[in-house]
Amino acid sequence: MTKTAAPNPLLAGWTAAFGLPPFAAIAPQQFRPAFDAAIAAHRAEIETIAAQTAPPTFANTIEALELSGRDLDKVSNVFFVLAGADTSDAIEAVEREVSPLLARHSNALYLNRALYARIAALYAKRATLGLTPEQARVLDRYHTRFVRAGAALDQKAQDRLAAINETLASLGTQFGQNVLADEKAYALILEEGDLAGLPDFARAAARAAAEERGHPGKYAITLARSSCEGFLQFSSRRDLREKVFQAWIRRGENGGATDNRALIAEMVRLRAERAKLLGFETFADYRLDDQMAKTPAAARKLLDEVWGRARAKAKAERDALQKLVAEEGGNFALAPWDWRYYAEKLRKARYDLDEAEIKPYFQLDKMVAAAFETATRLFGLTFTAVDVPLYHPDARAWEVKDAQGKHVGLFIGDYFARASKHSGAWMTSLRDQEKLIGDTRPIILNVCNFSKPATGEPALLSFDDARTLFHEFGHGLHGLLSNVTYPLLAGTAVPSDFVELPSQLYEHWLEVPEILQKYARHARTGEPMPKALLDRLLATRTYGQGFATVEYTACALVDLDLHGLKEPAGLDVTAFERDDLARLDMPAEIVMRHRLPHFQHLFSGGGYAAGYYSYMWSEVLDADAFEAFEETGNAFDPATAQRLRDFIYGAGNLRDPAEAYKAFRGRLPAVDALLKKRGLNDVAA
Ligand SMILES: [Zn+2]
Repeated sequence: MTKTAAPNPLLAGWTAAFGLPPFAAIAPQQFRPAFDAAIAAHRAEIETIAAQTAPPTFANTIEALELSGRDLDKVSNVFFVLAGADTSDAIEAVEREVSPLLARHSNALYLNRALYARIAALYAKRATLGLTPEQARVLDRYHTRFVRAGAALDQKAQDRLAAINETLASLGTQFGQNVLADEKAYALILEEGDLAGLPDFARAAARAAAEERGHPGKYAITLARSSCEGFLQFSSRRDLREKVFQAWIRRGENGGATDNRALIAEMVRLRAERAKLLGFETFADYRLDDQMAKTPAAARKLLDEVWGRARAKAKAERDALQKLVAEEGGNFALAPWDWRYYAEKLRKARYDLDEAEIKPYFQLDKMVAAAFETATRLFGLTFTAVDVPLYHPDARAWEVKDAQGKHVGLFIGDYFARASKHSGAWMTSLRDQEKLIGDTRPIILNVCNFSKPATGEPALLSFDDARTLFHEFGHGLHGLLSNVTYPLLAGTAVPSDFVELPSQLYEHWLEVPEILQKYARHARTGEPMPKALLDRLLATRTYGQGFATVEYTACALVDLDLHGLKEPAGLDVTAFERDDLARLDMPAEIVMRHRLPHFQHLFSGGGYAAGYYSYMWSEVLDADAFEAFEETGNAFDPATAQRLRDFIYGAGNLRDPAEAYKAFRGRLPAVDALLKKRGLNDVAA
């Protein structure tokens, strides 16, 4: 008797609307067999391409690679969406198993000598192959990737690289899971009497968080940024602020099984070793070589230009806050857990503006609509809510169409924090755009961690949350508007110091008065934000930028210093962070936005290792790029928007980033617009 196993839904053809995965039919235990099958299939495809006797051609080698591994893409995309946005013990266990397998598989591809020989042969005669510009770019990118992965090294070096890659993948997974574990483990459960200073929205969110964590009728402050930052801003209980703040900055540093410091030391050591094997002096040199910045020195030059000014401005801000403490009769030196509280008070006093007054005007649904309308006015896109089965009831979907009514893609917004979601905000995809096999349309997600309101209450955002929403939606458009043939170049597949341009640029439109006037409407009365309040809100744009710039730039500098170590063996992470900040003369009242033990950009996946400077690098671009619109006197100027679509949002990795920017702007960017935007242009360094 034979028994036929039910087919694995992850590997079946997906027949749901828009080709969505059949989430309801997928169980965690199906991922491992699906990964195994998909990896084996891809490996066989790679072997076939490499073992051909026919001489290499673009079609039989590069295009064949572009067509391979499709099941693995599908399985990985679904898996990593869930692992980030709706994880569980079962998913985490699969993640720990699978990350070294994926690293090993990536080694099998990029360290395949026969395959590399074919690519190198094509690359050597690239000028004579009659390639289109896009094909030439794809070949160039493959060649670079293989060389950077170590394809040209001898066997011994390759074996060592392969082992390093696998270990790094496992350590990265463990790092992220440790941070999530520390976040899940903590909630400050409060009673009604502990809420002094908290406005209604913060109380409602804390009540909902307590309910979700099994404490109905009480209030919970969690380590989600929206929750603890809100508390630090408003709670007049200095003792409780200190408690929350300490828990927040000690994520990944609590001793025991979830402590990340040993993992960091090991990752930094392995990264440095890998860079040396590949012929670079440090990991930062290796990393930056394939970025727009090209060298650590170039990135550092920009950060240095900002750092002195930011510190001077932050010190002036601190003095003003300390004065406020004294005026209130406080007999203590301003501490890090006081900064946000007094900054909010001072902002209220100076601009007659407080977050609690603003927040009712930033309803989640209205801000989503505002982000959509901006895309309509710039790019002619329309968004229609569709009811399709997704992986969590809080996730929502919209069909995106162009001005001619043609389907562009599907956009999924998953906005609320929950215990099963990693912290932070990100864009990801279930399917990327391409034209190699038919006109494949993208499925793009934005995942955020906004506080979920109590049942029946509107979801309210802080102005920062609203900016995050626009930011991630900008990444989303980079995926949705992608217009390339080859998957390798699609959407956000650009260097990480360029990838934040579409997202950070998009934030500017949130502040365009005609968008704010239309969508910033009071949750109860429906009234638009009064002009005077709006003016005051916009006047505060450069308020607190000393703090924000120091908080960020310190992270970027410490990242470059850490990954610029030539001999990082035996690294003491705590001492390194402390000493490096001392060397930088970090103001004592400010803590890095992400301390090393929970710095997921650097260690969870590692996409931003030696690359956290990218946000500021991109900000030079975005500030300068938005000036292109301002110079026309129209924030939606059609000709500028068309160039933006052609060369940035729609262009994926078709061009070198500097060339792409020049094609849009007519020149490379200057730093002045950034300094002006942050209010640092008139501060002496
Ligand atoms: Zn981003």
